[in-house]
Amino acid sequence: MTAPIPLTLVEPVPVDRRQRALTDLRISVVDRCNFRCPYCLPEDQYPEHHQFLDRQARLSFEEIERLARAFAGLGVRKIRLTGGEPLLRRELPLLVRWLARVPGIDDIALTTNGTLLPRLAGELRDAGLGRITLSLDSLDPTIYRQLSGNRGEIGEALAAIAAAEAAGFAALKINCVVMRGINDDGVLDLVAHFRGTPHVLRFIEYMDVGTLNGWQRDRVVPTAELVARIDARWPLEPVSRAARHDVAERYRFVDGGGEIGFVSSVSSPFCGDCTRARLSADGKLYTCLFASEGHDLRALLRTGADDATLAAAIAAHWRERDDRYSERRAELRAAGNEARVEMFAIGG
Ligand code: SAM
Ligand code: SF4
Ligand code: SF4
Repeated sequence: MTAPIPLTLVEPVPVDRRQRALTDLRISVVDRCNFRCPYCLPEDQYPEHHQFLDRQARLSFEEIERLARAFAGLGVRKIRLTGGEPLLRRELPLLVRWLARVPGIDDIALTTNGTLLPRLAGELRDAGLGRITLSLDSLDPTIYRQLSGNRGEIGEALAAIAAAEAAGFAALKINCVVMRGINDDGVLDLVAHFRGTPHVLRFIEYMDVGTLNGWQRDRVVPTAELVARIDARWPLEPVSRAARHDVAERYRFVDGGGEIGFVSSVSSPFCGDCTRARLSADGKLYTCLFASEGHDLRALLRTGADDATLAAAIAAHWRERDDRYSERRAELRAAGNEARVEMFAIGG
């Protein structure tokens, strides 16, 4: 057995202005998507001539791996690959293989709409992908299709789950964004479907991410309301969070039917525990899902910055971080502060 490669901490581990460490990195590998979910990339809203990033503009796998090493040296332990739709990025399993070898990274996860998973699940598993989160907003074929912007079929999402299981991903997270009057009627059907399986359904409050989704607060179904509805049918009890920076509130079914989670970024913001950085496909570092601008790391990479310079730049941006949008949502929205990065550019 080979000895583990020692971690080289090139910089003191940074904390931001609110004493939050940097432990998680979300990497968007592509901004394109084969869906047009109305809450993220609505077909009729994004500018007609919107230019998605071309190949040159996107970070190469070599560049992503270099940045991952720098982030790992600053304390990052978990990486999540996202998009747009990350499985549209060619040869993604190769990137997973490289990231799995980065010293310090002990968890690699993927968030996907699943359409391309049947083709790729086995290769991703072999490459070292540890966990998959699959987005699935309804079991009703018509509503599923509507929430994919008329691009997806529920059968494909269910096939994706089967493919992931067959490849050895025992327990998936299933993300459902709940919108009042659109898919909230189907919540109990989803619970019935996934109860008793190893998969953990997570209901996500609809958020005002980006500038295109026409967010209205009355479309948000607060977690408390969902918990009450589900508890009335299948009694629930709270489970303590595994780690402080876990975003989901966890519950288990009293009858032993497994677990369920809720991400309450609107009704119960968790900015105080937010230890995530986000990297866009063109190499910008975002310190909040609601940031208006990112810090350009690609420019540094492409002008020959060495590893120490890269790490120092990332650490400096993290130390400057003071974000807590969800805690200040009402105030910031009232002030008309509308500039925000789009969700499909940084992937949630
Ligand atoms: N395309 C992949 C997918 O859909 O799984 C990965 C990127 S997507 C932006 C990541 C997650 O963000 C998905 O689970 C999606 O449902 C969620 N999301 C997108 N827009 C949202 C919104 N307005 N509010 C809450 N969650 C949202
Ligand atoms: Fe695409 Fe995911 Fe956004 Fe839907 S949520 S449009 S699948 S990036
Ligand atoms: Fe983190 Fe920003 Fe979300 Fe707060 S609003 S939890 S700081 S990403």
